[in-house]
Amino acid sequence: MSSIADDVMLTYQELIDEINQEIDRIRNEYGRSPCPSNCFQCCSNTSTIPISEVEARDLKKGLDALPSEIRQHIRQKAERTIRELEAKGYTPENMVKDTGMKAIDVVKGKSSGECPMLIGGICSVYEHRPVICRVWGYPIDNGQNLACCKKTFIGQYRNYKPLKYADYWQRCKNLSDALGSKQKTPNCYLVVALLEDAS
Ligand code: SF4
Ligand code: SF4
Repeated sequence: MSSIADDVMLTYQELIDEINQEIDRIRNEYGRSPCPSNCFQCCSNTSTIPISEVEARDLKKGLDALPSEIRQHIRQKAERTIRELEAKGYTPENMVKDTGMKAIDVVKGKSSGECPMLIGGICSVYEHRPVICRVWGYPIDNGQNLACCKKTFIGQYRNYKPLKYADYWQRCKNLSDALGSKQKTPNCYLVVALLEDAS
């Protein structure tokens, strides 16, 4: 018999499949992938973004599959970021209030501002990355307006039916509630917690 957690993770996988299908739709209409192959700018300045519980559980699968040296490296990177943030008075609690927007200023443009899971310009947990990492680069409806990376779909993003990011994020929140956690955790703190047993 499957547990509630198993059912939630299956539903999350269905959400990811739906997102992938929608991305394929836009990519087919556009004719190619919109991002330059060597670009990883959107992984810079993401060390404080909040991540939901259901995304965290999937992310853990990606982290657990990495060689121990890489996990150690990721953990050290995240710990350095935390030291810099805490030296300026930030905590996970005060950071998530504005989705890490103020805190990121402390580390912006530095390697400590980068997502700890970015290694040599490559996402080390690509198949398990959070939802925002999957949709950014495509036109999205964030619930307030239409948005898109400034480097993609230049002048054209309104011509495409956007990805329903606000809806995806709400579904992540609902699934996280079902797992008993309303908490969102800033990226760097989450990574350290998930790698607690890294050796
Ligand atoms: S999880 Fe991967 S895609 Fe997302 S910010 Fe980190 S390195 Fe980039
Ligand atoms: S979404 Fe934008 S910043 Fe990110 S890889 Fe694509 S072009 Fe680069």
